[in-house]
Amino acid sequence: MEYNNRNTICISSQVGCKMGCKFCASTKNGLERSLSASEIIEEIYLLERENSNINNIVIMGIGEPLDNFSNIEKFIKIITDSKGRNLSHRAITISTVGLVDKIYELADLGYDINLAVSLHYAFDEKRMIYMPSAKKYKIKEIVKACDYYLDKTKRRISYEYVVIDGVNNLEEDIDQLESLFKGKNIHINLIPLNPIEEFKHSKTKSNVMEEFQKKLSKKGLNATIRRSMGSDIDASCGQLRNNYVR
Ligand code: SF4
Repeated sequence: MEYNNRNTICISSQVGCKMGCKFCASTKNGLERSLSASEIIEEIYLLERENSNINNIVIMGIGEPLDNFSNIEKFIKIITDSKGRNLSHRAITISTVGLVDKIYELADLGYDINLAVSLHYAFDEKRMIYMPSAKKYKIKEIVKACDYYLDKTKRRISYEYVVIDGVNNLEEDIDQLESLFKGKNIHINLIPLNPIEEFKHSKTKSNVMEEFQKKLSKKGLNATIRRSMGSDIDASCGQLRNNYVR
């Protein structure tokens, strides 16, 4: 993804995913296996061989990175090594559904990597319907772990929020987001829903996204709308799947 003369690559950490988020195609065939550290590195080197240099890495493709913790840790050590690719820790973002124990573990590694949490719902009750991991990890526990992460790494947390019109953009959601985050050093990244055949909601319209963002901003929350790319080839957030294996 080219933006402001910078190249960002979104890479995968697993083949398939076992987290079961209802709106995501990557989990529909379950988890095939985790990628090794060398396979994750290869995603970057392959692209760099054909294309220009990568400036940023987001681990937001297929898989839950913190469910493949040891390989992600190895990958970070290798890709940031001064004798190798020498990438800055700050150029890496890890996205997670909120595996609380692993967020603490990542914080304790002491790297100033960016952390993005796929929150998507402001209430545990709603989150549990669409994200099975929410049955184990409650929002308040996740936010507490993220506060610890910020304290340790000094990196501002991003909360990802896939806007599903009429489901998670109601007034009650806005009030709840305010009570969770008011006064905290966080950023809310709003993502339009990208439709998949198994999740019967349509793509979120741009006016709905803008209205939600404005309402959050009025509450003093720092929220922006993510540019969405790749939906024409079913490769946007939540659309990637292991078709090749199938
Ligand atoms: S959104 Fe992420 S964690 Fe959830 S099923 Fe898809 S790949 Fe897995």
